[in-house]
Amino acid sequence: MLGLGEMGSAIAKTFVDRGYRTTVWNRTASKSAPLAEVGATVAATAAEAVAASPLVVVCLLDGPAVDAVLGSVDAAVAGKVLVNLTSGSPAQARTNESWARERGAEYVDGKIMGDPPYVGTPNIMFPFSGSPSAFKAHEPTLQVLGTIAYHGEDAGLAAVEFMGQVAVAYELLIGFLHTLKLVQAEGVDVAEFAERIAGSIGAFPPLLSSMGKAVKSGDFPPDLGSLDVQAALMDDMISHRESVGVEAVRMREVKKLMDRRIAEGHGDQGFSSLFALLAK
Ligand code: NDP
Repeated sequence: MLGLGEMGSAIAKTFVDRGYRTTVWNRTASKSAPLAEVGATVAATAAEAVAASPLVVVCLLDGPAVDAVLGSVDAAVAGKVLVNLTSGSPAQARTNESWARERGAEYVDGKIMGDPPYVGTPNIMFPFSGSPSAFKAHEPTLQVLGTIAYHGEDAGLAAVEFMGQVAVAYELLIGFLHTLKLVQAEGVDVAEFAERIAGSIGAFPPLLSSMGKAVKSGDFPPDLGSLDVQAALMDDMISHRESVGVEAVRMREVKKLMDRRIAEGHGDQGFSSLFALLAK
């Protein structure tokens, strides 16, 4: 295990707890002490840690940290399976995959969706991609970390899944915060409103599935009603926000897309049809 920050330590501890012989290394050596106490072997260098096991798990801060540590390991990685759980882009994963292949190692990229205390429980998700044979060989070991899924041979696919899932969360939550501002501006209790939203959000999964199918097929039904009707509602939503001094930039953006789609003769289609306008 290379990297014993918050996440790396939780991962290493889980491997030790589940009975895996685990060798750890961290740039700041003092962080190895709690792992040594529970039974991990501490390596003096990253290369020494890599030499100790067939499976090498990396969890460092970011891409430059991975480059620095793998640079110090270099040829010692030959014959190993390298599983990199550091956050980063699909392009970084593909570059790491080439780096490993050139040195005779198999590469699996993984991403982490959840917090360190959940490592070792089903409540944290790990998408993986890269070498299918390496993933298969070490699947039982990786499974002890949480809920795992394999997304395909292209090493970048785990990062695509991670970036997509994180993006949906941020897009949703910034919209939620804007709405809380609006509700609060109208004198409504925001905590109670949030509870009601938590109750009604269960209606979304079927909508997401049908929108996914519409986007894939390019055949856009009038989901959420036709754009002709929705555009009028959007005007109300924008003026409501403006009337209570709440930022309406995102709603104006949506309205602009609706107007363009209607002008192109698609006013009978639904919200999912805005997808057709999203290429830059
Ligand atoms: P920490 O900041 O706790 O740890 C960072 C780790 O990276 C430490 O081991 C640090 O070593 C090492 N590091 C940083 N720069 C270098 C470098 N130049 N050379 C060598 N080692 C370096 O981060 P986390 O453990 O929390 O996060 C690790 C990864 O997990 C990140 O990619 C993060 O995005 C991801 N992740 C974290 C989550 C979380 O909640 N913590 C959730 C989901 C993903 P040193 O101790 O010497 O500083």
